[in-house]
Amino acid sequence: MNQTTIKESCVLTGGVGLHSGKKTAIYFYPAPANHGIQFLRSDKSTTIPATYQYAESSALCTTIAKNEIKITTIEHVMSVCNGLGLDNVLIEITEEEVPILDGSGLFFYQKLSQVGVKILDKPKKVIRITDTVSYNKDNVAIYITPSNQPVFTFSIEYEHQQIGHQEYTFHLNETNYKDQIVQAKTFCLEKDIQKMQDMGLIKGGSKESAIILNNNGEVDNMEVMTWLNEPNLHKILDQVGDFYLANNLRIIGNTYSHKSGHATNLAFITHLMDECQNKYIIEEDI
Ligand SMILES: [Zn+2]
Repeated sequence: MNQTTIKESCVLTGGVGLHSGKKTAIYFYPAPANHGIQFLRSDKSTTIPATYQYAESSALCTTIAKNEIKITTIEHVMSVCNGLGLDNVLIEITEEEVPILDGSGLFFYQKLSQVGVKILDKPKKVIRITDTVSYNKDNVAIYITPSNQPVFTFSIEYEHQQIGHQEYTFHLNETNYKDQIVQAKTFCLEKDIQKMQDMGLIKGGSKESAIILNNNGEVDNMEVMTWLNEPNLHKILDQVGDFYLANNLRIIGNTYSHKSGHATNLAFITHLMDECQNKYIIEEDI
């Protein structure tokens, strides 16, 4: 299989940053083979590769930074790039934060798949897991074992009666990503909203961009939900995006995760890539 990019440039307008609340447009440009996924902040004339080497640990979103210039909340658009099998794209934003849109990957997915994928003339590469890699910290566990496919099994546990314990196994390919994951919205607990607002966050949050789990154990805005296990599916959407920080290569292996978030996804990828080089190979995708 060969590397891909998008057939032509496109733009999504009208979005706001989840945390900043600022209006921002997001532009997508085709890029040559071996370019990878890179973000351009046009207001700062700075381009940052979307790889773990540039990523910063954060509980609430995934951020990349270079020379103290940041680009935040990249995870949903990164997930769509991985889900669509896009290897090379230049993504321009006009502010610090990628727009949240409806809180899922759907708007990015619709725009990019409408533009279409172009096949380039260089081979596509993948990371093939050859030995088990595990990561444990506090209550979070992630491990990955060899497999012929990229598979994500994810479980969560929340003290909220609408969530409780949920577990799902997702086989990553373009069709499954479109059908099972891309429109899973982000979610938040009502009890955390005030805390985040006090920290100056979620200025661009709304009932259209997140599932809100209220203090009575109910969903405040059930009308925006597609699936009852949507919170768990969204955690998989996030992880598919965060795992693409591994040099924008798909990881072929069986991943099992319990209660992971952005910070632990990044810690796992950094551990895998830098400390477990004898447990994977980078090879051409056949
Ligand atoms: Zn998310």
